[in-house]
Amino acid sequence: MAGLQLSNVRKNYGKVEVIKGIDLAIEHGEFVVFVGPSGCGKSTLLRMIAGLEEITDGELFIGKRKCNEVAPRDRGVAMVFQSYALYPHMTVEENVGFGLRLSGVPKAERAKRVREVAKILQMEELLERKPSQLSGGQRQRVAIGRAIIRQPEVFLFDEPLSNLDAALRVDMRMELSKLHTDLGATMIYVTHDQVEAMTMADKIVVLNFGEVQQVGTPMELYNFPANLFVAGFIGAPKMNLLPVTVDAVSGDAITVSAPSLKSTTLHRSVSGLTMGDTLTFGIRPHLLVPDADGPITGKIRLIERLGDSTVVEVDGGAGGTIFAAIDGDIEVQLEQFVSLGLDETRAHLFGPDGNRL
Ligand code: ADP
Ligand code: MG
Repeated sequence: MAGLQLSNVRKNYGKVEVIKGIDLAIEHGEFVVFVGPSGCGKSTLLRMIAGLEEITDGELFIGKRKCNEVAPRDRGVAMVFQSYALYPHMTVEENVGFGLRLSGVPKAERAKRVREVAKILQMEELLERKPSQLSGGQRQRVAIGRAIIRQPEVFLFDEPLSNLDAALRVDMRMELSKLHTDLGATMIYVTHDQVEAMTMADKIVVLNFGEVQQVGTPMELYNFPANLFVAGFIGAPKMNLLPVTVDAVSGDAITVSAPSLKSTTLHRSVSGLTMGDTLTFGIRPHLLVPDADGPITGKIRLIERLGDSTVVEVDGGAGGTIFAAIDGDIEVQLEQFVSLGLDETRAHLFGPDGNRL
């Protein structure tokens, strides 16, 4: 097994820079998720680690070895793609064992190792089938089996669950987490889905426009987003982000307000702010609670019943829309006025540059 080190890694396609200098350390045995919107460079970065894309600039170390110029098959990595990429005319057994056959591993040894992998993935009864006789989840399992059998130092997954239906995605997510625990291997997993990132990662790397926005554990990112992008990307329903004006600043307190937010004081030591400055106030929907004296008041425009919680969309007038995730059993009606209270210690302020204060 191996960790990875990326130093100022860049990728250009012609004049367009799509990966803009990435520094990242991945520990041996870690489950790291690259997450970000479509087109932000996740696959490109993963493919550079795999050796399927040339690294324009910077250094990639896998273990102690610099790998910029090392051929993909010699990097000790195995990649699983969204599209499965199975050979349709081969059985599951042949698909999983194909790499070993190419490397000249004898038939008996191959069969033994295929059976071991099939056992890990609980697909022993599928070995004689062709891919067309498998469900999407089973095909993806075969693709994963083909990676496991190579006993790589590092597993690379590019949106492997995106083609599966929602229920199966949840099952496979748990299976992959267990697999990671069982194998103890380093895994890098790419997804655009923040739920997958939150549920599976030891460490999340949030990417946008080819740049790292933040690296941290799921709860670090959730509770302490470094900037507006991470604040809006991680967590569902999304964090409320309201433009606010600074009404007063003193040593360790700052008072802000907006058309939809009555004067609220946050205890933060901030510097360089003056009255009249515009900031962004962030509060997660589930941290808003019905409270007659609360600072947020507005008319309910939409009610979404999720069972354990109820999401209400509140029209904050000129202050925009506010979402609150409140008690599932609450009795609320459309057009009703609600007042919402919040715990200021769990609210955030973001400066004009988008970074959290
Ligand atoms: P993601 O996987 O995050 O959706 P990609 O890594 O596939 O994003 O792509 C990142 C950016 O690089 C996109 O803007 C994409 O259009 C561009 N890109 C990807 N591959 C190529 C290529 N072969 N030539 C030119 N541009 C590319
Ligand atoms: Mg991609």
